[in-house]
Amino acid sequence: MYLYNSLSHKKELFVPNNPDLVKMYTCGPTVYHYAHIGNLRTYIMEDVLEKSLRYLGYNVLRVMNITDVGHLASDADTGEDKMLKGAKRENKSVMEIAQYYTDAFFADCKKLNIKTPEVVQPATGCIAEFIAIVEGLIEKGFAYVAGGNVYFDTSKLENYYVFNDHDEEDLAVGVREGVEEDTNKKNRNDFVLWFTKSKFEDQALKWESPWGIGYPGWHIECSGISMKYLGEDLDIHAGGIDNAFPHHTNEIAQSESYLGHKWCNYWFHVHHLNTDTGKMSKSKGEFLTVSLLEQKGYDPMAYRLFCLQSHYRRNLVFSWENLDNAVVAYQKLVAKISTLQNGNDIDEAVLAAMKERFVTALNGDLNTSLAITAVYDALKAKTSDATKLAAIADFDQVLSLNLLEAAEALRKKEAEEAAASTGPEVDALVAARTAAKKAKDFAEADRIRDELKARGIEIIDTPQGTKWRRV
Ligand code: AMP
Ligand code: ZN
Repeated sequence: MYLYNSLSHKKELFVPNNPDLVKMYTCGPTVYHYAHIGNLRTYIMEDVLEKSLRYLGYNVLRVMNITDVGHLASDADTGEDKMLKGAKRENKSVMEIAQYYTDAFFADCKKLNIKTPEVVQPATGCIAEFIAIVEGLIEKGFAYVAGGNVYFDTSKLENYYVFNDHDEEDLAVGVREGVEEDTNKKNRNDFVLWFTKSKFEDQALKWESPWGIGYPGWHIECSGISMKYLGEDLDIHAGGIDNAFPHHTNEIAQSESYLGHKWCNYWFHVHHLNTDTGKMSKSKGEFLTVSLLEQKGYDPMAYRLFCLQSHYRRNLVFSWENLDNAVVAYQKLVAKISTLQNGNDIDEAVLAAMKERFVTALNGDLNTSLAITAVYDALKAKTSDATKLAAIADFDQVLSLNLLEAAEALRKKEAEEAAASTGPEVDALVAARTAAKKAKDFAEADRIRDELKARGIEIIDTPQGTKWRRV
């Protein structure tokens, strides 16, 4: 499989350290609010990546953190803890907020067929691990204590800006949010590993540490959780493009300084979901959730298809019109599939060729729109319905669009509708037969019975009257 690696800035053949197990890490949500559909675009594409690797024959162990402490209002470690902000907003405790929005996140993922990673670890459960890494960094001279906080010293690195081809806008995240400079820092990009001092003294969750009572920085959480479950090396680290700087840059800085060797080989970044006013973000106040889409009558699968129709390394513009187009595409696809008749006549050679096209799409830097084209091509192919259905079942292991289930549901719905619409007509024929029998016109009564039989309807004469059923 060829994947674009943000570290090398080019597409590279994916070769895991251990061919038997791909170790994958994903930055999880900060659980202070609902995930918006932009966040979920990232999780959908990461889900497709994981499922593609499995489809291609790899075993994957995937770990994800839940940020329930330490992610401050600005990604540059200033401002109030987002969790505390959420708790104040809703008049609840931080842990209540964390539980509520963690559950909400996984409920959204379920609706979008996003598989839960094998390991999901809240940051508050790994404080000892984070402290051990911070101690190691101080010992090795990569970190210093100033004004009560522990900082990573970025001047100790030869190359701190590992993803240096990012947009100016991405690189400026740290300073953009207009919060004042932290004067304890030796260098502008030094970042906090452990906080004991902050302007916000009501920080709810705090722990003992060698530097006083405090809490971890956001970046150390991902390094610590990854190392705890995946060890000293990692094959793929995934996240949204806005996390490349400073979050992932800082993860690399601290992990490699602590370990003394390269940590992660491939960095997979999903580009943004934008609205007409730019990146969809929670700080802007208004954002779209899966529940809101559902309230407006949208099937979450249509949103998943909308995401799969475009490449993960392109910004995707959300508009209701674009989503409506995806709805139509999804409905047409499902309607087409619902007309296929299952059978045993699978043409294995044709099926293999269809799969090859699908695999080629995935192997080309996860080209999901081409993978969707493979579905259309399979439907158009001159082959048996059984072959087409086998191909779609196979592809949907990765696409997870519920294609067969939705087609079956549509068939059932259409059958019910047909039954409902023919019911009164059948009732009328049954009544006409009863009248014919009463008038001793047995020939007419038999004719009606035969006509109904030909339409798959059986007539049953009971002491309570004549009934009918479909056979
Ligand atoms: P958060 O819960 O804010 O930590 O973000 C969760 C994930 O969503 C991270 O991987 C972000 O990079 C990603 N993300 C944030 N905004 C967007 C967006 N508009 N489009 C796509 N991904 C996003
Ligand atoms: Zn992270």
